[in-house]
Amino acid sequence: LDPVLAIIGRPNVGKSTLVNRILGRREAVVEDTPGVTRDRVMYSAHWNGRNFTVVDTGGWEHDARGIHARVAEQAEMAVELADAVLFVVDSAVGATATDEGVMKMLRKSKKPVIMVANKVDDFAQEADSATLWGLGFGEPYPVSALHGRGVADLLDHVMDTL
Ligand code: GDP
Ligand code: MG
Repeated sequence: LDPVLAIIGRPNVGKSTLVNRILGRREAVVEDTPGVTRDRVMYSAHWNGRNFTVVDTGGWEHDARGIHARVAEQAEMAVELADAVLFVVDSAVGATATDEGVMKMLRKSKKPVIMVANKVDDFAQEADSATLWGLGFGEPYPVSALHGRGVADLLDHVMDTL
């Protein structure tokens, strides 16, 4: 069985764009409207001659009752079946209060978590990702899923982790 990499993060941070970048093809649905990917979707991926499975997920958001239970549950199930997790945030926004519960769940899971600061489209935005060191998941990886910047370095690190 191939090792499993789960991609989690709030809606609109660029998870599906990153999945497509990892796959090298446009298969995951990318939308300008938050909340398009509702369920877990699995894809076969390859890097440096190794196969792995990528799981795209919907993100969680606050609704009137707190974090939308169904999507938080999807994230938790994805983490459970994962060998490693990419926790994606928008570099300009960072981790938000909405991410707190999920970060707690990630720490409890004891799974290897790689912090990804997405939408670092150019060098000037790289400094934004440094603040993510404080979250306790180790070195943040600045990437641009849209343009591919930093994704090769990220995947090298993922393969060391899986
Ligand atoms: P998801 O909800 O987390 O799966 O996010 P999507 O992959 O659907 O992307 C949400 C929006 O962010 C889309 O308009 C993407 O084009 C945009 N986006 C994704 N990655 C990047 C990036 O690296 N840079 C920029 N500037 N926009 C991005
Ligand atoms: Mg998506």
